[in-house]
Amino acid sequence: MTDPLKILHDVFGFSTFRDGQEDIVRSVLAGHDVLAVMPTGAGKSLCYQLPTLVREGLTLVVSPLIALMRDQVAALRHFGVEAGSLNSANDPDENRRVADAVRDGRMRLLYASPERLANSNATEWLARSGVSLLAIDEAHCVSQWGHDFRPEYALLGDVRRRLGGVQTIALTATADVSTRGDIMHRLFETEPRIFIHGFDRPNLRLAMQSKDQSKRQLFAFLDKHRRESGIIYCASRNATEKLADSLCQAGYRAMPYHAGMAQADRAKNQDIFLQEDGVVMVATVAFGMGIDKPDVRFVAHAALPKSIEAYYQEIGRAGRDGEAADTLTLYGLDDMRLRRSQIEDSDASEEQKRVERQRLNALVALCEAPRCRRQTLLAYFGETTEPCGNCDLCIDGVVLFDGTIEAQKLLSA
Ligand code: ADP
Ligand code: MG
Ligand code: ZN
Repeated sequence: MTDPLKILHDVFGFSTFRDGQEDIVRSVLAGHDVLAVMPTGAGKSLCYQLPTLVREGLTLVVSPLIALMRDQVAALRHFGVEAGSLNSANDPDENRRVADAVRDGRMRLLYASPERLANSNATEWLARSGVSLLAIDEAHCVSQWGHDFRPEYALLGDVRRRLGGVQTIALTATADVSTRGDIMHRLFETEPRIFIHGFDRPNLRLAMQSKDQSKRQLFAFLDKHRRESGIIYCASRNATEKLADSLCQAGYRAMPYHAGMAQADRAKNQDIFLQEDGVVMVATVAFGMGIDKPDVRFVAHAALPKSIEAYYQEIGRAGRDGEAADTLTLYGLDDMRLRRSQIEDSDASEEQKRVERQRLNALVALCEAPRCRRQTLLAYFGETTEPCGNCDLCIDGVVLFDGTIEAQKLLSA
């Protein structure tokens, strides 16, 4: 067997593994089924591409988007690896090239959409040609509780059986417990090796406070960050406008951002935030997707975020440059109560409500954490760590507030 490190250098041109990659690669090479949970950008693709090249045989990669497949195939071919895809956008020439390469065993990584595998003879054809490894990318798409459910993903357990119960690696950036449970239950017959890695962002200081005078609390926080770039998330469009106004009056360069603004105004504010230093963006959750500003120094939540996952995404927009960044989340009993009644009053199924309740409870438990906040946050994602020394609870200890008992009552109701 070729040395994985040698292929890492010679084919991919990387000098070292990233955090978490090596353990996964070795586990795949040892023949185990694997569930790998790592954040976006952590380098999940390498975890099936490298083992493919160390061994013989064809890896079938399931990917939900044609654009993702194209990027990956282009990157692999650039590295000199025979790769291709089966999708509805291929022209006949491309299909022929792919079929020939699979037939004579040259093809190393073949990408396919789940629709393609579910609805055609493709799976039978691939079973005859022989597949050595099935890699299921964006595996959270099997989960009805996720943000990106694809019914065809639910059929992949069956595809796997039709391929002769082939060794499988599932990969996702979504680590929440119910989603993980769905992935295991739908894709694997026996428990895979599970690797959860890379969710910690040690340069982000974490803090959460119950709201008593939210404006005073926010201003005290902002006062430590004069002339720095940051984002404040508010629960409503109206709240962003109001808070941006009072911040301007207090001498900050602040501007609102929400989906109700004219497209041109939104684009203008976003450009100013990206290009200038020291702008405070006061925004709804409509702001942030795809924003890559490395030197955002703080993120505050003026109200309870939607979920722990949303919280993690939103604070994750700070400190991308790796330098220290500060976060503060304000939450109130009213936020929790409102969220609770929204769940109960929705048209969702009982099962969906149960999952939503669990998620809310986990979020409240993070707000009310008795020990290191980062430990609690990472435990939610399935990672274990030592107390961090960089959160409010590690620094100041636990300050109990009157609302705690109320909150517990609310949740057990
Ligand atoms: P993910 O699927 O986890 O979001 P990708 O597999 O798309 O991440 O990888 C993200 C980027 O990291 C890619 O540009 C990839 O080439 C790069 N990368 C992956 N592994 C390494 C490594 N060991 N060293 C350097 N760069 C890497
Ligand atoms: Mg990926
Ligand atoms: Zn801590």
